[in-house]
Amino acid sequence: MQRTRKYAVMAAALATIFSARALAGPEAVPPAATPFHVGAYELVSLRDMAFVEPNDGKTFGVGEPESAVADVLRKAGAPTDKIMLSVDALLVKMPGHVVLIDTGLGPKIGGDLMQSLALAGVKPDAVTDVLITHSHGDHVGGLVMADGKSAFPKAVIRMSKTEWAWMQGHKGAATIVRAVAGQMKPFTPGTPILPGITPIAIPGHTPGHVGYQIESKGRHLFDVGDTVHSSIISLAKPQWAMGFDNDEQQGEASREKVLAKLAADHERIFAPHFPYPGVGYIVKKGDGYGWVPDLKPAVDKTGE
Ligand SMILES: [Zn+2]
Repeated sequence: MQRTRKYAVMAAALATIFSARALAGPEAVPPAATPFHVGAYELVSLRDMAFVEPNDGKTFGVGEPESAVADVLRKAGAPTDKIMLSVDALLVKMPGHVVLIDTGLGPKIGGDLMQSLALAGVKPDAVTDVLITHSHGDHVGGLVMADGKSAFPKAVIRMSKTEWAWMQGHKGAATIVRAVAGQMKPFTPGTPILPGITPIAIPGHTPGHVGYQIESKGRHLFDVGDTVHSSIISLAKPQWAMGFDNDEQQGEASREKVLAKLAADHERIFAPHFPYPGVGYIVKKGDGYGWVPDLKPAVDKTGE
């Protein structure tokens, strides 16, 4: 019964993401590319879209009163009737490789990752490796163009073996699976897959969800994927159930464990759904955590 309900919640979330139907859902944003460094590697935070989720108890604070969720938002100075999420991806340039981590919602839904990539001076053909944190539509949608063809035809595409198996079982993902199957090289998390890039298993949000540890010359950045979603609620109340998590209990356990470690280690992170550009630190705050951004969005030189 429990499992059936979880699957239904997940299926609904996926359907929403893949069809972009919704009261709430994806909203267009201007493209943006914000560069920064990790050791000798040049990274770029790439903007794709935004999500606006209503505070209706279905996604954030599942099972909690709406007023409790509103309280957390109010204390952070945010609107109390909706939760704003960014949808971003991360580019890593290293000798011999141009690596894209996650791909946004895709041009069919209105995602402008490709324009952001152009702002970063990178053509799709130049991407050598695409690493996926998990197979939800806001991370794999951009693997294909609006016509369904592979968006990064020269890249090796990688996700965990568990996630690839799970993705292939979802009808909503069939077009993408078909388009990229020949490029897919799934991995077992825990060992480096590129110089300085190691996938770390963080199950719960999806069965094969991973974060990516990036290291160069002793400097680190951890792409947390969807371990957290809202820079306000996911951090203030990590113990609250998250409707997008396939397994809410495992998602919560993973979230608390990862946040505790990130705060203790003062580790710099990239969070694809935190306010753009999504780079900063997790700090202990009260009985939860807080967000300290550490990178300002690049100014759009066109002045728009
Ligand atoms: Zn996501």
